[in-house]
Amino acid sequence: MRHCVFCDILSGEAEGSFVYRDDLCAAFMDIHQPLAGKVLIVPVRHAAALAELPPETAGRMFQVAQRLVAALRRSGLPCDGVNLFLADGRAAGQDVFHVHLHVLPRVAGDGIALRFGPGHARYPSRVELDRLAAQIAGAL
Ligand SMILES: [Zn+2]
Repeated sequence: MRHCVFCDILSGEAEGSFVYRDDLCAAFMDIHQPLAGKVLIVPVRHAAALAELPPETAGRMFQVAQRLVAALRRSGLPCDGVNLFLADGRAAGQDVFHVHLHVLPRVAGDGIALRFGPGHARYPSRVELDRLAAQIAGAL
């Protein structure tokens, strides 16, 4: 495994401001803070991709996210809404290859958006959607 900054934060070799930690996952703020209150939830045991996570760990991460969203709303920090974002793979924008779920507090008009590029405005037919659904379902 190549050097992993999130493993360093988990071990205490690098700084992180911890919000939560249990036997399976932890939540902290790293140095990249484009939003006040942005928290990352990571598995304690290194895993590069979502598919590598034991289901119990993936489930716990989402349970912690649910608690953090509620906590952010109660915290007094600016938070009118919350986005959860997980990039799985380089093409999806994953930059640190230790699974991490972003918890992003949002305020009205903050200008943050996940945008589709040109050519994504086409709406497929129901027949095409049914075919795609069957293809995905077949891979489950
Ligand atoms: Zn790691």
